[in-house]
Amino acid sequence: MSDAASTSDIEEAIGALLPGLAEFIEYRGPDRATPRSDWIDLIDERLPQAGVGSDEVLRLLSEVVISRGLRTGHPGFTGWVTTSPTTIGVAANLAQTVASSQRWWVHPGNDIDSMAVEWMIELLGFPETYVGQFTSGGSTANLIGIGVARQHAGERIDVDPSKDGVSSMPNPRVYASVQTHHVVGRSLGVLGLGRENVQSIPLDDSGRIDLGALRSAVESDIRDGCTPVAIVGNAGDVNTGLVDPLGPMADLAHEFDIWFHVDGAYGGFGILDPRVREQFGHPDAYDSFAVDPHKWLAAPVGTGLVICRDGDLLARSFAVETGAYDRERESLEFNKRDPDSPWESTGRGTLDWGLDFSTPARGIAVWAILKEIGAVGIKDRIVRHNDSARLVAERSRASQELELMADPDLSIACFRYVRDGTSEADLNDLNEEILAELRRKGSSVPSSTLIDGQFAIRACFINPRSGLEDADRLVDEVVAIGRRLSER
Ligand SMILES: *Cc1c(COP(=O)(O)O)cnc(C)c1O
Repeated sequence: MSDAASTSDIEEAIGALLPGLAEFIEYRGPDRATPRSDWIDLIDERLPQAGVGSDEVLRLLSEVVISRGLRTGHPGFTGWVTTSPTTIGVAANLAQTVASSQRWWVHPGNDIDSMAVEWMIELLGFPETYVGQFTSGGSTANLIGIGVARQHAGERIDVDPSKDGVSSMPNPRVYASVQTHHVVGRSLGVLGLGRENVQSIPLDDSGRIDLGALRSAVESDIRDGCTPVAIVGNAGDVNTGLVDPLGPMADLAHEFDIWFHVDGAYGGFGILDPRVREQFGHPDAYDSFAVDPHKWLAAPVGTGLVICRDGDLLARSFAVETGAYDRERESLEFNKRDPDSPWESTGRGTLDWGLDFSTPARGIAVWAILKEIGAVGIKDRIVRHNDSARLVAERSRASQELELMADPDLSIACFRYVRDGTSEADLNDLNEEILAELRRKGSSVPSSTLIDGQFAIRACFINPRSGLEDADRLVDEVVAIGRRLSER
């Protein structure tokens, strides 16, 4: 037998990458993430007809992919909502990819994955009766949450939207604040509900959803014969990290028998900080919840999670018809057939809980991380990062040269450099320049957002490698660059 692809020598192959990976993830040596024009010629080509063999590919992986990688895990990186995975998550994903490569059929990954879901449910304080499913990320987790909401709204009027479509659900509506991540709108598009049917609710003076406006929107839509599908709460919106008043939102939703979905893709783990716990209400009031282990838990990217109150409703929402080749699926489910055979195990859960058929056992990385650091380890990280945002906030309040743009609930701090007598337009330009210079320099790399049309420097602390000293350095650098630029 011969095949063009190597299926041996895995020790040599992975060993060849390890020195570069170690250098990269410890940020030794100079940053070689140069502009695209510097390296694109090394890889840009048409489809090769004859392969070059694995050694040449390994060389390119080392010299281009690894060494040119953007340092999004550097301790000073606080941009967007992303970081590099921690060591054990990488090791777990490697083990999973090679030896336990399917969530549904290949054990022991399927059982570990199921257990990781249960650990997450316990960690975040949901009742044991809730179920969950790892997904590719927050986008899919939110899509699944809104999908169950659609099913719930349909069944309320004797329609099965998953089976029969949504044509007999008049004017579906999903309510969410203007700060809600746009993947929620896209979910409505995918689910046949229509992006335009998100009712964007304004914010109150505190920057969170305006409960009065929410109630009026729901009541007036019900009067007009619309079909309310879901109210969506933000457990940490992606711009400012503010948490909507989730308890009162849940009460309002349930008063009208509307599904309450919470998007905690970024900030869901924030519930572990006792100082902000109350803002989250109680998780047993959430009907579904999206959270991204690939953000604050620093699992490898590709690890989201949806948690849901009702496993049967979830299964009706994403039911997949059984095909001839997997007709044994029903009997395989819950490992009923032959408990003594390793081939008869799917783990707990069902394929009807998500979108993927073949899918990695993403939960192995989550299990490994939680096993390594425990509930205490992740809780300490959350508190430290919330402290980092508070530190930026305190220093911004205390300084004449800085302005705090949003008082943080969680680990996002938004602020800007200010100078007396400078116009709003000039302040926007000045802060944009400060950000550009920070990025060129590379020791503190935040990103930006707009708050009421004003350009804000936005730092989001989720990186296991960063602490208070990185927050301090960011503020020092903004002040130093701001002074220099405004003295020109
Ligand atoms: C990141 C994020 C999303 C999207 O999740 P992905 O994992 O990027 O698909 C949705 N909502 C919020 C609040 C987020 O932070």
